[in-house]
Amino acid sequence: MTNNETQNPQIENVEVIVLGAGPAGITCALELNEYRINCLVLDRGSLPGGQLPEIPSPIPNLPLGIYEDGRALQKSLCDAVSSARIRVDLNETVLNCDLSKLEFQTANRIYHAKAAFLATGYRLRRLPDEEKYAAFSKEIFYNTGSVQGEFEGKNVAIIGGGDSALLEAMERVASARSVCVIHRSESFKARRHVIDDLKADSRIQLHTNMVLNNMIGADGLKQIELRSTTDGTTKTIDAEKLIVKIGYAPNTEIFKNQIDMDSSGHVRVNAECGTSVKAVYAGGDIVTPGFDRIANAMGNGLVAARSIRKYLESLSN
Ligand SMILES: Cc1cc2nc3c(=O)[nH]c(=O)nc-3n(C[C@H](O)[C@H](O)[C@H](O)COP(=O)(O)OP(=O)(O)OC[C@H]3O[C@@H](n4cnc5c(N)ncnc54)[C@H](O)[C@@H]3O)c2cc1C
Repeated sequence: MTNNETQNPQIENVEVIVLGAGPAGITCALELNEYRINCLVLDRGSLPGGQLPEIPSPIPNLPLGIYEDGRALQKSLCDAVSSARIRVDLNETVLNCDLSKLEFQTANRIYHAKAAFLATGYRLRRLPDEEKYAAFSKEIFYNTGSVQGEFEGKNVAIIGGGDSALLEAMERVASARSVCVIHRSESFKARRHVIDDLKADSRIQLHTNMVLNNMIGADGLKQIELRSTTDGTTKTIDAEKLIVKIGYAPNTEIFKNQIDMDSSGHVRVNAECGTSVKAVYAGGDIVTPGFDRIANAMGNGLVAARSIRKYLESLSN
């Protein structure tokens, strides 16, 4: 493993490395703790919880109590970490790794482990030609949770066809001057009732079979140009803010060419959460295309912990 920026990194040996402090990683760590197996959880974020703080509304599909939003569940997860005294090193990005050697490198350290659980989750997909629109970077939003005021009285365009895009449109319409949704195909991927609610709101304009072709404005964004995916024709609409909600991608680049993955970058695992690399297990969103849910991530974390225990026991026999 090479990283020219790292000068004399400290080397640390740990029993198990858990990469990612989201629901999958933390559940794995809690279960390992039950077996008194030492593990270190690494996360680039400043708090455990992964995507949980991005969930803006009540979580309806978890029979674990009432959580008014993702932050409430995140707090409960942080409490569990503190009470079990799990070691979670935050603001630690794993920059590269050699899975065959179970070696993981951050800016200042190299960790060696006997087994690893990869649970690096999803990140928001960004505009594919983002650099082209660098001049408008202040008017392009991927997360809107902490910038609600930005959209008041503005012409807002939202790109995407899933739940996130459609729910965003319905939230924005109360205070924006105008709201439109741009989607590359005819049919939306969102849940049926969300689509029905959106279509019932006559204040929201829909531009289906359209993609972003250009952003226009001398002093800030004024308009966007759309291109038809069916006949290539273009049209221009007023937009001062652009919200991009085009889905998620697995954070698996650092494992590329080291482990068996599908074409979308999801890691392939067996029923025990084992990967194609010995002693390396994986779970959560990075292994479950289409099943990116908290309960699933937690279940994977639990299964992986049990598999890791079995594997470590096999080493000492
Ligand atoms: C807006 C929104 C709404 C949602 N609503 C629901 C819902 O209602 N119900 C539901 O069940 N699910 C919901 N989900 C999905 C749910 O949040 C995810 O399925 C779950 O968080 C996946 O957990 P995970 O542990 O696999 O990954 P994540 O939660 O993504 O955690 C992965 C962690 O890995 C860390 N990481 C990644 N790469 C590195 C690296 N190189 N070095 C160090 N750390 C790294 C990240 O910082 C992150 O903390 C929602 C998600 C979003 C975004």
